Amino acid sequence: MLLMAPGRPLEERELPVPEPGAGEVLVRVAACGVCRTDLHVTDGELPDPKLPLVLGHQIVGRIEGSGERIGIPWLGCADGVCRYCRSGRENLCDQARFTGFHRDGGYAEYAVADERFCLSLPEGYGDVEVAPLLCAGLIGYRALRFTGEGERLGLYGFGASAHIVAQVARHQGRRVFAFTRPGDLSGQEYARTLGAEWAGDSNAAPPEELDAAIIFAPVGALLPAALRVLAKGGIVVCAGIHMSDIPSFEYELLWGERSLRSVANLTRQDGHEFLALAPKVPVRTDVEEFPLEEANEALERMRSGRLRGAAVLHVAT
Ligand SMILES: [Zn+2]
Ligand SMILES: [Zn+2]
Repeated sequence: MLLMAPGRPLEERELPVPEPGAGEVLVRVAACGVCRTDLHVTDGELPDPKLPLVLGHQIVGRIEGSGERIGIPWLGCADGVCRYCRSGRENLCDQARFTGFHRDGGYAEYAVADERFCLSLPEGYGDVEVAPLLCAGLIGYRALRFTGEGERLGLYGFGASAHIVAQVARHQGRRVFAFTRPGDLSGQEYARTLGAEWAGDSNAAPPEELDAAIIFAPVGALLPAALRVLAKGGIVVCAGIHMSDIPSFEYELLWGERSLRSVANLTRQDGHEFLALAPKVPVRTDVEEFPLEEANEALERMRSGRLRGAAVLHVAT
């Protein structure tokens, strides 16, 4: 399913099986998770994607030849030599190339990947169930780490990422407060089934102050809203790659040693840590499965918020 240009639906096309270059593997795709980033790319909100482009960076597949099951995440490669890479921050590498953005991704039967950046997947998960761990889970986990030790955790936007992070946070003994689009009562009910002790509208005040919040929804106005319900010393972490503009707000909201940061991409270390942790929680993923040809439908469902958990494309073999 090919993106010919931003602003247009994906088109079903026949392409030759890609040729792996040096250090690359050819992977037969079994499943590929759908991420909000894919929506930002199709909407032209991220600059300079490869075009035409195969989207998708939560790829589960098997290496042709060995049959080994691996995951291909967003970080497709990094140069390994720059200041960022040498200090354990390959996620910030200027030369990084991202899967389903600079390189063709997994909305297809085959993908090639730099084998150094492929991840081993935990056993005990099916191909479709494990796919959302690769970005929704991984980026969520990185964001959760940046919240420090905060016990009372707010999650803004209860989609694919939050439904995983809520389980990890509960496992760590934290208390979870979920914020959804105003009036999304079924989303709030869903959050309670995953361990949120309170769930309400994103503009509502929770029953007590929070120590940390993660913003998954691409809505800049949530940032001052989250600061407003934070205790002193608290942190707001923005987990998305794109957000609408942040409205100005009074310094009072940041005062009291509150802080604000973003999370960008992932490192392989995040991948190893999170994929080892997930089966111990154990994280269960709620998945809505779509055949590959219905990728546009999956993206539209994500856009309208009518998804429970994560959307995953199933690739028939
Ligand atoms: Zn993603
Ligand atoms: Zn680098």
